[in-house]
Amino acid sequence: MTQGKVYLVGAGPGDPKLITVRGLRALQRCDVVVYDRLAGPQLLQETRPGAERIYVGKRPDRHTMKQEEINRLLLDLALSGKIVCRLKGGDPTVFGRVGEEAELLRQHGVPYEIVPGITSAIAVPAYAGIPVTHRDLASSFSIVTGHESPDKLDRMIQWDKVTNATGTLLFLMGVAKIGYISEQLIKYGRPAETPVALVRWGTRAEQETLTGTLGDIEQKVREADFQPPAVIVVGDVVRQRETLKWIEAKPLFGWRVLVTRARSQASELADRIDELGGEPYVFPVIDTVKQTNPAEVERIESAMREAERFDWVILTSAAGVEYFFSWLAESRVDIRRFARARFAAVGPKTAEALAARGVVADVIPSQFQAEGLLDSLADKLEPGQRALLPRGDLARGLLPAELAKAGVEAVELDVYENRLVVQEDDMIVEMLQAGEIHAVTFTSSSTVVNLLEALRQLGAERPADLLAGCAIACIGPITARTAEEHGLRVTLTAEQSTIEGLLAAMLKHRGAGNEIR
Ligand code: SAH
Repeated sequence: MTQGKVYLVGAGPGDPKLITVRGLRALQRCDVVVYDRLAGPQLLQETRPGAERIYVGKRPDRHTMKQEEINRLLLDLALSGKIVCRLKGGDPTVFGRVGEEAELLRQHGVPYEIVPGITSAIAVPAYAGIPVTHRDLASSFSIVTGHESPDKLDRMIQWDKVTNATGTLLFLMGVAKIGYISEQLIKYGRPAETPVALVRWGTRAEQETLTGTLGDIEQKVREADFQPPAVIVVGDVVRQRETLKWIEAKPLFGWRVLVTRARSQASELADRIDELGGEPYVFPVIDTVKQTNPAEVERIESAMREAERFDWVILTSAAGVEYFFSWLAESRVDIRRFARARFAAVGPKTAEALAARGVVADVIPSQFQAEGLLDSLADKLEPGQRALLPRGDLARGLLPAELAKAGVEAVELDVYENRLVVQEDDMIVEMLQAGEIHAVTFTSSSTVVNLLEALRQLGAERPADLLAGCAIACIGPITARTAEEHGLRVTLTAEQSTIEGLLAAMLKHRGAGNEIR
């Protein structure tokens, strides 16, 4: 049997982009990932299809795995020949119990690697605008556990030394002990006016910061019912936040936004949400595949071979462009045989995809629905012309009917099919139930239908109800109508049916000061 291996990987503090390249590689390569709550759920999507996922974190309804059981699990998986990625929040060596996990592996001769991560102790304050050191304010910092009961803490922490050892003190796992911690620090010489900040769920959509002083922070925590997990920062660096805080000022800060479009198209939208301070949650529900139905394939190929007979090629999506060219190649037809035809492209993205293939569209309608295409085409169409419409099998029948009215013969080709995709995602339903998804983006009618179906397949009995607490963001009126027809209450619809239009509508909605759940 082949020897397994364990990568003990730091996942960073939550924002999935804060994992290291080495950590990401281990995650992408492994057979099984063993993870807990502090490792961001989005990272799990990086595993290869079929990779096993084992959750070992706390669950209210179930037995929580003890550290010894986790050590044993890692060992057993590796002994059975698996490549294991043990994904831990932050850095695995900072209160991550990596020592115990590695030690057991070592005893059994199982190879392992420790892949450092960005610890929350430093990254979480940074996301709140607090640098842990500062030329004038603090030239050292300590990372201290706040986990144990006071008497245990007293045995582990030498308060008389820790209190004044470094300019900045960072406590992890200390929210419940904030009263005791501040009491000790005051007792051993820190002024009661020393600034303190608690930053919970840093780098995530839920990031929240509470500031005070050693003298009043306990009361403030109690009044705000401030919950863990949080990093506690003690020291003058906390004042930097007033001028340096940055992410909270971004327009989509605090919003976790579901991106439902095909994975191949999702990154553009996800990256823009990220730039705008939101947290994209990529959950593709759709995918395109090349047409396989033999009868349709025959129609496509024979249409391609009649290239010279077309006056128009009308493309309605970037995917349509991609598959049109792939069928050209398959049919061994040179694009120049379409020399007589004029090309129309619905929307700038379709036009861009076409331009990338060396074809500049003759008509790019200003409106981006099929109806809009006709407006700008109307005066250019002539009765008796033939138009080729390479598109997906879900494209609506309106366009050919309208073309027929103008006396133009439309040859529709289903060059690709849209397919429902159901991600292996055991978090999404739970997150929706807990109100942790704040907005859902729909970029086509099929994303609406498919999301509801995907949620149903993941165990949601009433998927539309599950989305009731989310802002529903639609790319255009047709998508919005589909959403309404499926029982969703549409919050906003883009004025321009483009990704930028959708983002603009989301910004407008948030700027309007609407309550964001
Ligand atoms: N190995 C981790 C720490 C594990 S101990 C690391 O290097 O970050 C768990 C504690 O880390 C929590 O109780 C909390 O104090 C802190 N923590 C981890 N992620 C956090 C986050 N996103 N926001 C705030 N605190 C976090």
